[in-house]
Amino acid sequence: MAGTLYIVGTPIGNLNDLSDRVKDVLAKADILLVEDTRVSARLLNHLDLKKQMVSCHEHNEKERLQVLSEAQQKNLTVALLSDAGTPLISDPGEHLIARALELGFAVIPIAGPSAFLLALVGSGLPCDRFCFEGFLPDKPKDIRNALMGLVKEKRTLVFYVSPHKLERTLSEVRALFGQRKACLARELTKLHEEFLRGTVEEITQKINQKGARGEFVLVIEGNKDPDTEDSDRSEKEYEEYVRLRLEHGDRASDVAQDAAKIFERKRSDVYRLVVDFQKERQNR
Ligand code: SAM
Repeated sequence: MAGTLYIVGTPIGNLNDLSDRVKDVLAKADILLVEDTRVSARLLNHLDLKKQMVSCHEHNEKERLQVLSEAQQKNLTVALLSDAGTPLISDPGEHLIARALELGFAVIPIAGPSAFLLALVGSGLPCDRFCFEGFLPDKPKDIRNALMGLVKEKRTLVFYVSPHKLERTLSEVRALFGQRKACLARELTKLHEEFLRGTVEEITQKINQKGARGEFVLVIEGNKDPDTEDSDRSEKEYEEYVRLRLEHGDRASDVAQDAAKIFERKRSDVYRLVVDFQKERQNR
């Protein structure tokens, strides 16, 4: 007989977001697959529930697939939970769901909050089409490469950003998207929830004053068609990009090569701009 696997969304800060349906499912589940048993134990305590929990995180998810076979043999109901928010969204669960479907489980998602969706709808930016990118890579050069691949994306872009990488990420983002509209959503659903809206440059200035405490989602406006909508902005983005890369101390030849590729300019033209900026800086 096939079993049931529930994918359960849990609060990202505000326990009032726990729905009756989530409570019912957690009450009837036999086994909870959770990221961190200590975190989920707090949720269960709040609900006055005692359940068998099995840890399932990014380092052991594949080993945990056997839990599904055992559950199936014993006809047990399984629920998958993240520490906060919706499982599988920048969280483990993908392998588990694939295996559950192979085994013939009914896979049933139970609605709960997800930080990216709240940030997107609260951002004031278009939500009709968007592109969720999760976390950017760790190394600054990799961050830049990933962002370079997104410069021409027309859909609204959404990123998760951990606090220790916020400053570096904003500085890379500013170099490429400085004049675009954006929104940095902080501490969603919590007491100090805040939406910083403006250009990426303005948001960077605000966060430099306030400090990078809490949890963050960054939403950036997609690329408007430079020919028909705002060619001026595209020019500003190009110049800003070159200026900031030089301020970071990047090599002129690297900056010229990257800018030529991203903004579709002749390398010799970019090089001239680089030289102008360098002279400007020397004369300051
Ligand atoms: N599965 C989760 C979800 O559905 O939102 C996301 C998990 S991911 C490991 C954690 C990241 O989500 C954080 O680093 C932050 O970028 C974002 N996040 C989670 N809770 C948040 C909150 N309350 N406010 C802002 N961002 C949050």
